[in-house]
Amino acid sequence: MNWESLCRDADRLLFGHYLNNPSPTEEKDTMTTLQAETIEQLKGGFTGEILLPGDGAYDSARQIWNAMIDKRPAIIARCATTSDVVRAVNFARDKGLLLAVRGGGHHIAGNALCNDGLVVDLSKMKAALVDPAGSRVTIEGGATLADLDAATQAHGLATPVGINSTTGIGGLTLGGGFGWLSRKYGMTVDNLESAEVVTAAGEVVRANATEHPDLFWALRGGGGNFGVVTRLEFRLHPVGPNVLSGLIVYPFSEAKRVLQQYRDFVAKAPDELAVWTVLRHAPPLPFLPAEVHGTKIIALALIHTGDPEEGERLVKPLHKFGTVLGEHVGVQPYVAWQQVFDPLLTAGARNYWKSHNLSMLEDGLLDVVIAYVGTLPSPQCEIFIAAIGGATTRPAPNSVAYAHRDAMFVMNVHSRWENQEDDKRCIGWARDLFKACGPFSTGAVYVNFLTADEEERVKMAYGANHAKLTAIKKKYDPTNLFRMNQNIRPS
Ligand SMILES: Cc1cc2nc3c(=O)[nH]c(=O)nc-3n(C[C@H](O)[C@H](O)[C@H](O)COP(=O)(O)OP(=O)(O)OC[C@H]3O[C@@H](n4cnc5c(N)ncnc54)[C@H](O)[C@@H]3O)c2cc1C
Repeated sequence: MNWESLCRDADRLLFGHYLNNPSPTEEKDTMTTLQAETIEQLKGGFTGEILLPGDGAYDSARQIWNAMIDKRPAIIARCATTSDVVRAVNFARDKGLLLAVRGGGHHIAGNALCNDGLVVDLSKMKAALVDPAGSRVTIEGGATLADLDAATQAHGLATPVGINSTTGIGGLTLGGGFGWLSRKYGMTVDNLESAEVVTAAGEVVRANATEHPDLFWALRGGGGNFGVVTRLEFRLHPVGPNVLSGLIVYPFSEAKRVLQQYRDFVAKAPDELAVWTVLRHAPPLPFLPAEVHGTKIIALALIHTGDPEEGERLVKPLHKFGTVLGEHVGVQPYVAWQQVFDPLLTAGARNYWKSHNLSMLEDGLLDVVIAYVGTLPSPQCEIFIAAIGGATTRPAPNSVAYAHRDAMFVMNVHSRWENQEDDKRCIGWARDLFKACGPFSTGAVYVNFLTADEEERVKMAYGANHAKLTAIKKKYDPTNLFRMNQNIRPS
């Protein structure tokens, strides 16, 4: 009999009871002692850190990107190795504890944490190993996009990931993942070659095209439903290290004609060129005149990953969409461009998002967006429109779990503010805008942009692949141990 099963038999009922049912006073001391003993068992052989309420690092460890989330786990198991993850998963399962998995802690819904249960915190597992000759990187499941880019760009290589470098590669990949390189190289999952996974049974398996191919299919868009991914292996492509990229800013008063020209432009753009747009109050960017700071603007954000001279030629029309208030376009390191939005998307603010997938930007949609930008409820709120398309649309919708190959644009309403008293107003604005845009959307949504109150949209987020995902869920996680996510219930 191994360590796990010994502890399992001894402590299952006692520990589960302690956590789930407050003990009578006369039992309290005994139960506290048992809890301490049981946690000592978890600590035995655990090479990372076990954080409990009251520990110095506990409060910072339970903070994630979205400050709306305030949860108090019973145990935060900050894992250092795959063996630590196995130990933590077995412990949570055997004690009947709710289990959450934290990668980069960025998901808006806050499922990286749970109340009272155990958090498998991967934030210390960030190592990356690049094989430049084979154009591959293997990276641990708690790494951020910055960790990945730093490792791969040392060799002039990259894989498509998101646009905020503090985002976790784990959660981003499992939901699909897209960013500046996606038009050229597809979704992040289209570049995943294999994964190491700790299953609900506590087994360490490798998933790829030939080993556990069903699990490998499900990991590429099925979210955190199938296990803890401790390592991911990606295919890499030559990118940069310097690329043509930058921002062009127009006044909000010209938003309609800028958006119409933008729509026509991206419809014809080559895959090497990505242009996204954002409507918001102007941040105090040094290339904008001071009088523009704080006024409403529409900005085009662009990157061209091919020859910079060809890029200059291609982006010329973008400078003529209206009255340019300021621009900053030039050849710069790809890693710098990957971090350009970080200052606007820092952790610690209150955030609420609403998102639509779009197959086109209809005039009616533009009118709604412009009307709501007219009533932005805080200086940090913004509407982001990501033009994906290109290589993201070419695989068959059932080739991997990520289903939305018809999404040419993803619109994300970022409501963001500082004070709790503004919650209702800022959330209400996002919900109203989302509703008004509904008639123009495909009806689908990207799973990584779903808020905690969108249970009814979860099925749509997995689209036509939901039924197959439920069958694979039943095979790998029949008791739904991994349920702190956009949950797929075992069929
Ligand atoms: C500011 C900001 C910008 C963003 N930009 C983009 C973008 O450009 N493109 C894009 O595609 N997405 C983007 N996203 C969304 C992002 O993909 C999701 O928030 C994603 O879930 C983040 O992953 P994480 O590991 O940081 O999050 P976490 O909150 O830690 O994880 C989210 C969920 O994923 C699961 N999970 C995470 N890691 C693992 C793992 N290793 N094994 C098993 N399960 C795991 C868990 O279920 C967890 O609840 C952005 C998010 C933010 C906040």
